[in-house]
Amino acid sequence: MEVEGKTTPSRFKRICVFCGSSSGKKATYQEAAVELGQELVERRIDLVYGGGSVGLMGLVSQAVHDGGRHVLGVIPRTLMPIEITGQSVGEVRAVSDMHQRKAEMARQADAFIALPGGYGTLEELLEVITWAQLGIHRKPVSSPLFH
Ligand code: AMP
Repeated sequence: MEVEGKTTPSRFKRICVFCGSSSGKKATYQEAAVELGQELVERRIDLVYGGGSVGLMGLVSQAVHDGGRHVLGVIPRTLMPIEITGQSVGEVRAVSDMHQRKAEMARQADAFIALPGGYGTLEELLEVITWAQLGIHRKPVSSPLFH
């Protein structure tokens, strides 16, 4: 929230962002990833994400890291060679499979935001929505799909 040029600190400490491991077909997707990262920084919110350095995941994590906020990436060991090219930023937590990844991301975050992505993003988003529906968590979920 913006009040006379000052950004009010958010009630969320850490937000989990689900997004594509590719950059997508439109430049606006990449812009949105960087803008979201900058917005988190502005609101002093740390990032939880899938741990990859590729695609939109790479852009959002780099923007949050560049802004000085903490970045936690949660990634299965077997995916590291595929989704981390070069170096990923921040703290990387290796887990043994996809289920652990989603559980750990959900545990660490106070809320979830989904940006454009592929099947993986859709799967992660639907999982946290259905967990909310079942009362497994009470954390807000936001996605452009809802707008
Ligand atoms: P995509 O949207 O397909 O580019 O994938 C985005 C991210 O979701 C990537 O880091 C994938 O490894 C991850 N992903 C795909 N399927 C799953 C799953 N079942 N559980 C957890 N993460 C997944």
